[in-house]
Order: sequence, then C-alpha cells, then structure tokens
Amino acid sequence: MARRILIAGNWKMNKTATEAAILVNEIKREVCDIDNVDILICPPFTALSVASDVINESNISLGAQNFYFEESGAYTGEISASMLKDNGCSHVIIGHSERRVIFNESDTLINKKIKKAIEAGLTPILCIGEKLEEREANKTFDVITSQLEGDLKDIDVEAMKEIIIAYEPVWAIGTGKTATAEQAQEAHAFIRNLIKEKYNQEVANETIILYGGSMKSSNVEELISQPDVDGGLIGGASLDAESFTELVKKSNKE
Ligand code: PEP
Repeated sequence: MARRILIAGNWKMNKTATEAAILVNEIKREVCDIDNVDILICPPFTALSVASDVINESNISLGAQNFYFEESGAYTGEISASMLKDNGCSHVIIGHSERRVIFNESDTLINKKIKKAIEAGLTPILCIGEKLEEREANKTFDVITSQLEGDLKDIDVEAMKEIIIAYEPVWAIGTGKTATAEQAQEAHAFIRNLIKEKYNQEVANETIILYGGSMKSSNVEELISQPDVDGGLIGGASLDAESFTELVKKSNKE
C-alpha cells in the first residue's frame, strides 16, 4: 500500500485562541477540496479546543505538541493524553528537538510518552535528528541510531505501526537552512532501514517518515519527490495561511 503524504504544522508557542480560530478558518477554506494529502495542525494547548471546533468534520486533523505520560495527578503544569483526546486531538508530537534541548527531555522520557500515546489512541510523531556539530563530526547516523534505540525501546511491531517519524536535522529548524533533497533522502532511507532491521520490511515500508527543517512552498516539491520522504513537519511556514496552504497544494508525489 502506498504511503500517503502528510503535511503537519507545528505552531510552537504561537497564536492565541482568537488568532488560531482565524488561521484555521483560512486554512480550511483553502484546503477543503484536497484529498490526496493528509493535513494536520498542532496548535498550542490553549488553542486546541477552538481549533477542534473549527476543523470539525473537515479534512484537517488536530495534534498537540507535547504531553506528560501519567494519567492524572500532582504534575503541576502538565497535560495528559486523555485531556488531548478530549480536546479533539488524534496526534501528538513527541521528542521535538526544542523539547530535547530546552527542556532536557531524554530518550527514556520520550520512550514513556510514545508508549502512553499509543495506549491512549494518539498517533505519536516522533522527532529525531542531529545537531550541526554532530553532522560536521560525521555522527549523523550514530545520533539517529541511538535516538531510535532509546525512543523505541520495548515498542513492539504492532505499536510501531502506529508511529510516524519526523527526521528533523536540528541545524535546519527555524534557521532557513534546509537539508538538500539528497541529505534528506539519505537520512530517511537510513531510518527506514533501521526500522526494517528492528522490525520487518512491511513495517518499514508502511512507516511515514516526515522531513522537518525550514520546509516551505519553494522547496517542498524537491524534498517530497524523494522516495523515502513522505511529507513534512512545518514550523514557521505553518503560521501563515497562504504559505501553509500553498505548501499543502504542492505536496504531491505525482
Ligand atoms: C519544526 O518546528 O518542527 C520545524 C521544522 O520548524 P521550521 O519549519 O520553522 O524549521
């Protein structure tokens, strides 16, 4: 079965609920006829409810950018998987480099979040990728291998079928520097092969692997034309209706 293209917007800490309602309405108007690309938006927690109301019964899905793996309790400032589901989320981003770097998230924590997300019926979008100094030291593949080993620890084949991976070279996030199509393809093929080795060929073939890092409408076609690039996780370009919807419209493998 061919993998479907997925374009996911990661809004990060941007947009109030009021601003989100305007943006989601604009996006919805522009993409309502698109059926060959899956579209996901990941607003901040405070805008999930309003975004969920606006996208209701449309071709846009809703995701969150983070959560905590416990069900409930004394975890001041945190939010649970059931709270996300209750707000209309089907997906959740896990292990974004900003969470790894700024909030010190470890592979052990990320692994717990992945397990909890799957148990709760949320599709995890697991972010991995190397920093600039790691790429320059030729450690890209070591970093990817080690992240996947830790993040996917004790995740069985059935659970793996639920996971989306986003390859996001840290040096390309929010910097305007995009990986070349060749660099992206090389990393994506490497990741797919690791999945094949850890699980099997079928799961490797079915796993959606997104590219993230300064993807925009001017470079999406080249990146998506690569055989192992199945879409994008978009930061900056997802904050404006025109740039996001243009990118979605150009996200076609044909
Ligand atoms: C991201 O936040 O996941 C991302 C890829 O950001 P940007 O598109 O701005 O580089």
